[in-house]
Amino acid sequence: MSIPSGPSAQTPTVRAYLSLGSNLGDRWSHLRTAVDRLRAGGPAAVTAVSQVYETDPVGGPEDQGAFLNLVVELAVPVGLDPYSLLEQCHRLEAGAGRVRTVHWGPRTLDADIIWIDGLSLNDPDLTVPHPRWRERRFVLAPLAELAPDLADPALVAAAGGEVRIVGRV
Ligand code: ADP
Ligand code: MG
Repeated sequence: MSIPSGPSAQTPTVRAYLSLGSNLGDRWSHLRTAVDRLRAGGPAAVTAVSQVYETDPVGGPEDQGAFLNLVVELAVPVGLDPYSLLEQCHRLEAGAGRVRTVHWGPRTLDADIIWIDGLSLNDPDLTVPHPRWRERRFVLAPLAELAPDLADPALVAAAGGEVRIVGRV
């Protein structure tokens, strides 16, 4: 008897969603580079990328510029350490030259883990689902494209902040 090959032998995966945002420097380039890096490798494969939304900043200093935001869907192998995804987010931010100054201030790249199917974690270093995902239209509107089961139209409509679709990376 031979070991089965093909789809049945593949590692089972669950869905994860990352939110990427930029409001400093070349915003398009920061988002494009981050998506390219996610596609190039790492612990989980990219399975979908939302459109890009321009959004007014929520919180933080009043004079900061508008954000570009998108959501990436990943297929995460079951059993993967979620902190390895957080490390990947931090590597993407460092790659964009992010400097942490004012909390919720302008940033070249913010990469947050929004949701991982079946996972609930309450560590300040990694809270999943993300504590504020249901309040933010800049997260919910792109998420609704990829996962309408998580972000239904009523939830998107009830969230705060204006968003407009501006293209794709
Ligand atoms: P924010 O995203 O709220 O604007 P930061 O990007 O500066 O703030 O993140 C601060 C810290 O939040 C990170 O160093 C990280 O350890 C922690 N954190 C907690 N939960 C998450 C999550 N779901 N995704 C990303 N970072 C998280
Ligand atoms: Mg963040």
